[in-house]
Amino acid sequence: MSPHLTSRLPEVGTSIFAVMSKMAADCGAINLSQGFPDFPVDHDLIDLIHKHMRAGHNQYAPMPGVSALRQALAEVIATTYPYAPDPDTEITITAGATEALFSSIAAFTAPGSEVIFFEPAYDCYSPAIRLNGGIPVPIALAPPFRIDWQQVEDKISPATRVIIINTPHNPAGVVLQPADLHHLERLAQKFGLLVISDEVYERLIYDGLAHESVLKYPALFRQSVAVFSFGKTFHATGWKVGYTVAPPTLTAEIRKTHQFITFSVNTPVQWALADYLRQPAHYLNLSTFFQRKRDFFLDQLKGSSFEALPCEGSYFQLLSYRTISEKPDMAMAEWLTRTHRVAAIPVSVFYTDKTNHFLLRFCFAKSEETLGRATEILRKL
Ligand code: PMP
Ligand code: GLN
Repeated sequence: MSPHLTSRLPEVGTSIFAVMSKMAADCGAINLSQGFPDFPVDHDLIDLIHKHMRAGHNQYAPMPGVSALRQALAEVIATTYPYAPDPDTEITITAGATEALFSSIAAFTAPGSEVIFFEPAYDCYSPAIRLNGGIPVPIALAPPFRIDWQQVEDKISPATRVIIINTPHNPAGVVLQPADLHHLERLAQKFGLLVISDEVYERLIYDGLAHESVLKYPALFRQSVAVFSFGKTFHATGWKVGYTVAPPTLTAEIRKTHQFITFSVNTPVQWALADYLRQPAHYLNLSTFFQRKRDFFLDQLKGSSFEALPCEGSYFQLLSYRTISEKPDMAMAEWLTRTHRVAAIPVSVFYTDKTNHFLLRFCFAKSEETLGRATEILRKL
């Protein structure tokens, strides 16, 4: 007898990031789809990894993360936000933000728990909720992608346990304001909800805006998990190292799931990051660096038929192509990649019901040379 196969995610296909990056490679297209930089990681950081490998830091790291890295992070956080986390009880190193999110969702979602999140949504939230027996409750946002907190309150039921936010937002590029965090704090307290706050783009925020981390709101933080990733901060998405910051009781629960999902994370990379974080110049000024790229991309698009939506943070720019084509966005992304050799992400994939807003997401974390070649093509459409 062949095995009884019951798919846990029957209608889920391959992630759009894998699909579009493969299509771009197959077609020789400029890849502005999947979010990753095309410029190098600082060689000093690479040298530090070599140093720690040679020094013998090659066996399992402690389950919650290398202590020196958690200590360094605690200091960075204390100088960035008005909160000084305890490195032993409040910080956990994970295999990227993806594992941080999965471990957190697994820790706090019991069968039947409802989890609210906002769409367009980063693609791993809903499958993680479902794999853990939870019920996804997406709240759809349309451009300009602002949250209606009354609508959120109306969606809260006795089964609601968790609410996931993401600021700066992938794919919309918008950021939450202090008023949003105040609304969230009130609802979390009123209904006893846990907040998972995906803040992987904390340092990529533009036009003088401030990042509104849950770490800035003491009452909210008492019932929150903040999720971060070194991939974005150090241009090393392929290293897959991230971390959670959460109060001790919540951290204890996250570690229970983390220890059976990955147990621990790449040891020499953690040691190297601990050293590298000691110099603030290594992580400050990222906003200036990426804002220049956003502005270069937009400047080079002047005169094109694409319409740019506001991008306040992240490394993604949404472009509306309504005046160019009536194709659904998936068909448009495919046409752009195969025919014109520029790959982007269709935004409908970030909605459960695949709503088409005629928007494509372009990653501008690229060299000016790459952005120049891509915009030369886009301007002609
Ligand atoms: N959350 C968001 C909003 C992201 O954009 C990403 C990936 N860029 C992740 C989580 C996953 O991060 P990581 O690559 O560190 O797993
Ligand atoms: N976060 C990246 C993006 O939004 C993709 C990460 C991945 O491929 N899983 O493009």
